[in-house]
Amino acid sequence: MSYSILVVDDSWESREVITSILSINEDYSLAMAENGEEAMGKLQTNNFDLVVTDISMPVMDGLELLDHLVKNKPSLPVITFTGFGDIFGVKALERGAEDCIFKPFDARDFKLRIAKALKYSRLKKYQDLLEQKNKELRQISTMDQLTQLYNRHYMQDVLQREFTRAKRYRNKLSCVMIDIDHFKKINDEYGHMQGDSVLREFAGLLKNTCREVDVPCRFGGEEFLIILPETDRRGAECMADRLRRATETMPIFRVESAELLTELKISVSVGLSAYPDPRIRSEMDMITLADEALYLAKNQGRNCVMVA
Ligand code: GH3
Ligand code: MG
Ligand code: MG
Repeated sequence: MSYSILVVDDSWESREVITSILSINEDYSLAMAENGEEAMGKLQTNNFDLVVTDISMPVMDGLELLDHLVKNKPSLPVITFTGFGDIFGVKALERGAEDCIFKPFDARDFKLRIAKALKYSRLKKYQDLLEQKNKELRQISTMDQLTQLYNRHYMQDVLQREFTRAKRYRNKLSCVMIDIDHFKKINDEYGHMQGDSVLREFAGLLKNTCREVDVPCRFGGEEFLIILPETDRRGAECMADRLRRATETMPIFRVESAELLTELKISVSVGLSAYPDPRIRSEMDMITLADEALYLAKNQGRNCVMVA
């Protein structure tokens, strides 16, 4: 595994000494700069694992370069070196340098410190990558990829948590289940891609219609569920009917050309349940009752809201 090191020093002799010490290691590829400003230029276009910089230099000194890197590239370690003894050295460490080496160099000591900083730098990079990957995984495991709504798995966790809270603090909690009417016909007449696009657009409408504290989820297929914390039956019914009416007028665009599909309209059937209710003893009862109400809405002729 090779490492890329930027060496910054105004003294030609000093750069030669460092090159001779470090080029023994075949894994190191070295780049040189004569001052902080030149270093900044090289840092813009190259990916270095470590910067080794002198402190006292013309144009832009090592401390100024260090400040810039600590602020803008916090994961890039900087080792400073100086012939001016402790004062500069301590200053550099205080301002975020990984290490400070004093001139004249002891070749073995210099190599060891460089190797240690590089090891740390690589570990830090892997740690950052791991954090990023974990973030992505969390996103994938909680979200539905097509609609960018929460998925059913996450919904179950939230509902369980909210139900426990509602029970404990005697709060209200509602659950709204939505099913797009005759959705199969859209797939059949316009194709599956258009169907997917309608689901995405409807998900957007869903997000815009509910409050920030509400939790809209894709229950599966063309079915959706919204968890409404601190909301009673009346409030949930009001929200559900607002959503039902907004769905009727929702514009739908052709997926290939983005033109408005004026002849295509959709509607939803909605069933809702609200806690407290003597029939509800667990969060699963909330889903069962909302589902039963939704079934009634379908039997009533669709495009309506039924309360459990
Ligand atoms: P109803 O009014 O009774 O709900 O009729 P419906 O056609 O909406 O219901 P049905 O359950 O018969 O069909 C649901 C359709 O939804 C069938 C299925 O292919 C489609 N569907 C489910 N998930 C997706 C998806 O992710 N993308 C697309 N394009 N279609 C989907
Ligand atoms: Mg369905
Ligand atoms: Mg349906």
